[in-house]
Amino acid sequence: MSFKPNSSLVDRVVRSPNCEARRDGPRADILLLHYTGMQSSQAALERLCDPIAKVSAHYMVFEDGEVIQMVPEALRAHHAGVSFWAGDTDINSRSIGIEIANPGHDWGYPDYPDHQMSAVIELCRDILARNVIPPELVLAHSDIAPTRKQDPGEKFPWAKLYESGIGLWVKPAPLAFEGAPSKWLRQGDNGEAVATLQKQFAAYGYGLPTNGDYDALTKVVVTAFQLHFRPERVDGVADGSTQTTLRALLAARAMLPKS
Ligand SMILES: [Zn+2]
Repeated sequence: MSFKPNSSLVDRVVRSPNCEARRDGPRADILLLHYTGMQSSQAALERLCDPIAKVSAHYMVFEDGEVIQMVPEALRAHHAGVSFWAGDTDINSRSIGIEIANPGHDWGYPDYPDHQMSAVIELCRDILARNVIPPELVLAHSDIAPTRKQDPGEKFPWAKLYESGIGLWVKPAPLAFEGAPSKWLRQGDNGEAVATLQKQFAAYGYGLPTNGDYDALTKVVVTAFQLHFRPERVDGVADGSTQTTLRALLAARAMLPKS
């Protein structure tokens, strides 16, 4: 059984059975981006439609720019998994998910081809035009599941998406940035500065309790932040550039019109 695609950009409907009604009605307010993380994109599409695998996404964008829709936007697809953002753990109920064909970090992590990124940008713009999704809720899978996921990864062109009106992003502070307070924090550190940093990540939405210890979870959250917002060096160390970029992002979000 097929369905009418939500977007005129859809080249092909390949229905996935792995979906159901959303928790709070048909509307989504998060756009979640992934890579498929499999060697073959055809195998990824088959898995996303396999009732035994129980996974799915609303859309998949192939390397050549072909756009597939698997689940109607009004329904809940299965792409987020165990996740957290800003107090909510059922991200599938609130999100539209796009799987972008790329083998991912386990298989050499090739660059995203330009025509694939053009198709992703067009599709995101189309989804944002039809749904009320605030810029700060265009998220990476790694943002909402930092202990498990790295996708879509540091090669994903978030800056280019932002320039196309998609998501919230600020120009990362340079790596050599030494502005105050620039004391680098890393795993093993503890105290007030670590607690302040943890509060800032949690204020943005990351699932990070404030305990004042730069523990393993703090390191993975810093890594997730870097994958999305400061991709030049992804090492889980809260250097001056990372801290400054995080504060700039919080300031940019505070400037957004209230929706
Ligand atoms: Zn993912």
